[in-house]
Amino acid sequence: MQHIKNYINGALVEPVSKTYLDNFDPSTGKVYSYIPDSDEKDVELAYVAAKNAFPAWSVTPKDKRSEYLLKIASLIEKNLDRLSLAESIDNGKPLKLAKTVDIPRAAANFHFYGTGILHYAAHSHSMENNAINYTLRQPVGVAGCISPWNLPLYLFSRKIAPALAAGCTVVAKPSEITPMTAYLLSELCIEAGLPAGVLNIVHGLGGKVGNAIVSHKDIPLISFTGGTITGKHIAAIAAPMFKKLSLELGGKNPNLIFADCDYEKMLSTTLLSSFANQGQICLCGSRIFVERKLYERFKTDFIARTKALVVGDPRDEKTKVGAIVSKSHFEKILNYIELAKTEGGKVLCGGNAVKMGGDFSNGYYIEPTIIESLPHDCRTNQEEIFGPVVTIMPFDTEEEVLDMANSTIYGLASVVWTQDLTRAHRIANNIHAGIVWINCWLLRDLRTPFGGVKASGVGREGGFEALDFFTEPKNVCIKL
Ligand code: NAD
Repeated sequence: MQHIKNYINGALVEPVSKTYLDNFDPSTGKVYSYIPDSDEKDVELAYVAAKNAFPAWSVTPKDKRSEYLLKIASLIEKNLDRLSLAESIDNGKPLKLAKTVDIPRAAANFHFYGTGILHYAAHSHSMENNAINYTLRQPVGVAGCISPWNLPLYLFSRKIAPALAAGCTVVAKPSEITPMTAYLLSELCIEAGLPAGVLNIVHGLGGKVGNAIVSHKDIPLISFTGGTITGKHIAAIAAPMFKKLSLELGGKNPNLIFADCDYEKMLSTTLLSSFANQGQICLCGSRIFVERKLYERFKTDFIARTKALVVGDPRDEKTKVGAIVSKSHFEKILNYIELAKTEGGKVLCGGNAVKMGGDFSNGYYIEPTIIESLPHDCRTNQEEIFGPVVTIMPFDTEEEVLDMANSTIYGLASVVWTQDLTRAHRIANNIHAGIVWINCWLLRDLRTPFGGVKASGVGREGGFEALDFFTEPKNVCIKL
């Protein structure tokens, strides 16, 4: 069985401890490879490599850095089939989704920042005849990047690409639950000729490897995507060390559906925003508010369309809902469905684990689930479930739905369905979310800021703001 390796100082290496963790294929529940169980010793080796590579990389001309990033982008494109299959096996997501969304978007991240850095400019400010100020943007140093399992290569590359483009060197940790595409990326970086030590990837547990990166005294910047509780823990360590921090955290995103919406478009998109990737996209809408006069029609059609979704083998073309990423997450989701029932929720469809046959009999499958009759402020409607479970609730007025939508501690994304443009803009202005999609979902323009408010995060990724994050502004004032 394959042993994944760390990528340190340009080479694929074993963990210092020589110990490994099991890596499961969630579609079968079986171990299919092994992950380095790295610790602070491996992080230190990675840090030293990144520190030694920094002086040369940070002054490597932008067009040369760009060439490396574009080469990595084209290698990802060339290896689309291999990477998509690896991500589907690691994560349980339908192969088709990995092939059409995750992996192409990972290539797009390298492409965007490989070209974006060529157009990245700093400012100068003239004080008439008195002085001129100009701002230098200098790479921060060794960046620590930590990412989750739900969109493994896409989110990993969204941190690494701007960091490398900006001239930082990197110590990165993918999720221990989905390490394979990060491992394959290290092979592609070697093929691209990326200089040794510029990017280092250390595999292993959050409490060991992640913690060692976050608490490392000489890593001045942490870019983290993951759960809100982990983010809180990281902030508690990093803030007193005055580290630069970007935290992309959990969500409990609302969909606001008004009766005047384009119904067919809304229905098919809502199906996706509820159950794509088994509901394990941080941007999925898990609380669906429907204007009362549309509620019954929506409910009937939404249930029928949800029941028609094929749950099963992620590699089968017909599959729309694959496996849940891990046994513990599978159990957590089922516990939330039980909680919803005790809170008075009525399960309209789904609600159960799916028992598959043959090779898949020990996989982690859950029926796409719709629940109604729950108050907006119960735990089911306030806490992040991160699975194929949505609640539907009727509303009467815009004011009422905004209050309910804004009632959680989170504020990542939101979706509004209406043909009334004035209302759409009014809601966009008043909703507590870093992202508002009007009559669409998951459309991404990499130039735009990305991130949440409240407990969904601090800082923004995306666009030139990510390059701002990985560089430090230094103002120079010249007296004339
Ligand atoms: P998680 O917080 O458990 O883990 C995320 C990463 O942090 C993993 O690599 C993990 O090993 C590491 N980690 C865990 N403990 C750590 C510690 N003590 N110190 C340092 N690192 C540590 O999250 P997850 O379960 O992998 O991902 C799901 C969560 O991520 C959900 O809450 C989801 O909403 C969120 N998410 C947010 C966004 C966003 O852009 N806001 C995107 C994707 C996922």
